[in-house]
Amino acid sequence: MQDNNKTPLNVKRLTEFRRDLHRHPELKFNEFRTSEKIAEFLTALDIPFKRGLATTGIVASIYGHGHSADNPGPALGIRADIDALPMEEANNLDYASQHKGCMHACGHDGHTAMLLGAAELLSADRRFEGTVHLIFQPGEEGGAGARVMMDEGLFRLFPCQAVFALHNWPALPQGHMGTKVGPIMASGITFEIIIRGKGGHAALPHSTIDPVPVACAIVTQLQSLVSRRMDPLDAAVLTIGKIEAGTSPNIIPSEVKIYGTCRTLTDESQSLFLEGVKRLSHHTAKAHCAQAEVIIKPGGYPNTSNHSKEARFMASIMRDTVGEQRANSDVRPAMTAEDFGFMLQNVPGAYGWIGNGNDADSGGDLHSTTYDFNDKNLEIGAFFWEKLARQWFLTEAQR
Ligand SMILES: [Zn+2]
Ligand SMILES: [Zn+2]
Repeated sequence: MQDNNKTPLNVKRLTEFRRDLHRHPELKFNEFRTSEKIAEFLTALDIPFKRGLATTGIVASIYGHGHSADNPGPALGIRADIDALPMEEANNLDYASQHKGCMHACGHDGHTAMLLGAAELLSADRRFEGTVHLIFQPGEEGGAGARVMMDEGLFRLFPCQAVFALHNWPALPQGHMGTKVGPIMASGITFEIIIRGKGGHAALPHSTIDPVPVACAIVTQLQSLVSRRMDPLDAAVLTIGKIEAGTSPNIIPSEVKIYGTCRTLTDESQSLFLEGVKRLSHHTAKAHCAQAEVIIKPGGYPNTSNHSKEARFMASIMRDTVGEQRANSDVRPAMTAEDFGFMLQNVPGAYGWIGNGNDADSGGDLHSTTYDFNDKNLEIGAFFWEKLARQWFLTEAQR
């Protein structure tokens, strides 16, 4: 870590800020209090910002010396997601959630605080040639908030030459960082299959078209997409998480609904999957005189695929921040999904991880009822973003 004796970063205040957000988590597009707290923090630093993109989103702009809204120069975007999850916190912390059925179990409270720490550092010394846009994004958890902000003009109003984001990561030890070139997180697509047959008496199957065995056959067949259609070196997951059918053991239902999700790291695997789900469902149903309808749900996330120049640059800043031993420039990708992938489809950039640790103290896995962002990362994250921004203007913006 840097010698930060003389920096303007107030770690104690930042920690209190993070814990206040943790105490008051808010669900997607309802982050009104969170948004207000971010606005107060920015106002105290005299940083201009625009509110209202995707309802509760905020974009703050820190201008380097000689730059302004009319003359932004090269511009860089850094994104933090701000929303929480619909679950009950099981932690016995003095700052545990006070909002019933809502919890910061993905550490977005920490992402928000790290970015505000960077705002404090960057605004205190404006010796950089351009503009840093801090993007506080709502609705990451299933709301595609990144896409909503973009649809409402994010990159038109605040053009960025590159965009970066960090996620706290329990699989890495606290204080370690990592990224990679190419796909780092999977795409997440949800689908529904409706199998229609003909219902009737359980004792008279010959006068019905029973959709239940058809559904069972489809569920089994679908896994052959993973084992027989995918390139074995391309990661892919298909999970059926919910099946609905029938009302009674002595009635053959007329319809079965199957709900599933597939996760892939490349666009090619995703198309292969979606085509395969449709083909296997239709033909298996047809073979049993039933019919299948496949509905691909809107709102799926694309994979999060890092651009090579930006990922390499991000990795170099990780090495500078936490040291060679703690920085990994080629992490194993994860099959979870992230809406930052939408931003990377439009603007070059990279996404990386900051280790939260996965021991008893750090609360286990993301989305678990005992999760908690590790406050030791606030300072590291704030300095990381400051370093990344300053270095980007020096070397990357010019290329
Ligand atoms: Zn999450
Ligand atoms: Zn998250």
